[in-house]
Amino acid sequence: MNLHKDIKSKFNSDEQELLNYAELAAKKSYVKLYLVGGPVRDLLLGNVSHDLDLLIEGEIDLFIAEFNKITHSEPIRSSQFKTFKYKINDYEIDIALARTEIYQFPGSLPDITPGSITKDLYRRDFTINAIALQIFPKPYKIIDPINGIEEVRNKIIKIIHEKSFQDDPTRIFRALRYSTRLNFPIDKNTSTLINRDINYLNTLSAKRIINELFKYLTEKDIYKSLSSLTKYDLLHIIDRNFPTNENFVKHLNIFKEQIFSITDKELILLAILSSTMNTNKLNNFISRFSLSKRISRILIDLNKINKKISYISFMKRPSSIANLFDKYDVEALRIASIVTGNKKFTEHINNYLNIWAKIKPYNNGDEIIEMISIDKTKLSLIIEKLRNAQINGKINSKSDEKIFLEKLNKQLFK
Ligand code: ATP
Repeated sequence: MNLHKDIKSKFNSDEQELLNYAELAAKKSYVKLYLVGGPVRDLLLGNVSHDLDLLIEGEIDLFIAEFNKITHSEPIRSSQFKTFKYKINDYEIDIALARTEIYQFPGSLPDITPGSITKDLYRRDFTINAIALQIFPKPYKIIDPINGIEEVRNKIIKIIHEKSFQDDPTRIFRALRYSTRLNFPIDKNTSTLINRDINYLNTLSAKRIINELFKYLTEKDIYKSLSSLTKYDLLHIIDRNFPTNENFVKHLNIFKEQIFSITDKELILLAILSSTMNTNKLNNFISRFSLSKRISRILIDLNKINKKISYISFMKRPSSIANLFDKYDVEALRIASIVTGNKKFTEHINNYLNIWAKIKPYNNGDEIIEMISIDKTKLSLIIEKLRNAQINGKINSKSDEKIFLEKLNKQLFK
């Protein structure tokens, strides 16, 4: 491939238009403008990228003011590190100041100072991401101080310096993610360094770890991407209570087709990661990763349901099953119905979710009170009995319900 030749023609018309706006803003604010990282790499590979990562050398605030004016838009997010995110049409545009980073200690967030484009490229994760395209001043020019183009050609994931994983162990997650996404192997020395530095993952906060894991869920092929976490004994190093590689893959296979496309992906991943934990370990997992109340409730319920699967599968009376399931979060039941290989249990959950949970008495509360003149405090007990009778198939119409109510009234209150 001739990577330098006619690079401009490789952009589609939307990208070209956005770049023209950025170019104009750069001209007006007297800054230098570069396209960097993923989009340049993808451009060289002929892949479509829906991100534009722009880098500024100069007064970024002036550039941003001009860019806002020209595009009639505002950043959807900005940070104290002078990074700005826009969403324009279908494109995410990240704009940042070229910078140098210094890591005070392994796993820490870096101290940042403004720097040149070359310095910025040296702080990046992998050589294939360390290529820039100068957009302004013209003409377009590739900046490739680390021979990234060569590595794109060689299709390899290679870090930029020997201490890269020690500075930022999240790059271990990133290496595997890029390797799977692009189908590029990890370079031999980089792989040796991952093995050498893998325990630096322990220097990362739980929040950073979970964020990295969640990024796997944004990949196109989530299954393939998550499967790569079985390499380097990564799961076990993050948390020794995570499932074995074998169990992890077994669970991934169960969820493979159905769920990643339809449900809360983060929840499914957390359910898989906690699938082999006992109550104590689950509680530790919840507090270590500061999981939200809702997610915690679902995982705890799922854990309880899993322990009762064989007992539930032998239950016969529909109302008893429904009353038991009422205690659990619906999402936990849904996940349990996918995870279990037990046919009877799945049948119960499907009946519950599709039929029993939706059943309500034919008459409303006021009608019931009027019909059998009972005290309001007794209403919930009556409604529960009506619902159970309906679930068990003893009431099939409003008139059935009336007869049932009269009998019940005599039995209970007369
Ligand atoms: P892409 O590389 O396709 O943009 P992505 O959207 O997953 O993939 P981001 O996390 O948005 O990537 O990162 C954008 C760029 O920022 C990367 O190409 C990389 O050069 C740089 N980068 C991101 N995280 C790190 C890191 N931890 N260390 C060094 N460089 C990083």
